[in-house]
Amino acid sequence: MRRKQKIDPEFAVKAGEQMISDTGQHICMAEGCFDIGSHPAPKNRQELRSYIWFCLDHIRMFNSQWNYYDGLEGDALEREIRRATTWERPSWKFGTGPSAKLSSSDPFEDKFRFFDEADTPAHAAAQNLTTEQKKAFALFELTPDSDQETIKKRYKELAKKLHPDHNRSDPKAEDRLKEINLAYAVLRKSTAHV
Ligand SMILES: [Zn+2]
Repeated sequence: MRRKQKIDPEFAVKAGEQMISDTGQHICMAEGCFDIGSHPAPKNRQELRSYIWFCLDHIRMFNSQWNYYDGLEGDALEREIRRATTWERPSWKFGTGPSAKLSSSDPFEDKFRFFDEADTPAHAAAQNLTTEQKKAFALFELTPDSDQETIKKRYKELAKKLHPDHNRSDPKAEDRLKEINLAYAVLRKSTAHV
């Protein structure tokens, strides 16, 4: 992976909606950065399930600055903690999305420990998966309780998006397509008995 020469110490998120490249990939939402963003992060604390995307350097910076309970005190803090223990949590830890395997460790691993309790069907399903299967679901951005029909539909979308005919200017699309094909083989096998 390409390393940046210098990381801007003043990390700021771009205003507005998630940027998408003309090849359909997420653009890093850090101000001034136009790398491909392969790492999802929650948009804000009200919208934990809406993601914006960052490159590896910036997801690390985002992670180091993000403290979910920052700025909350007293009653508000207590309310948030109570909410966090009752709601439906995201099934995947942040940073485990596509290409997260490029990083040596999950950047969100320690920060989001409160998402770890196994009390959602998706999370329960994830318990029985091999690493290969987890990676495949993450690559497809699907939860592990997804059925074959959902997986097939998602595969078609991805295969279409990454088709060489639509990505002549992006030589990486072909590699991504190969990854998607391999992941699909893994997922088909793992859901064959469901
Ligand atoms: Zn970036």
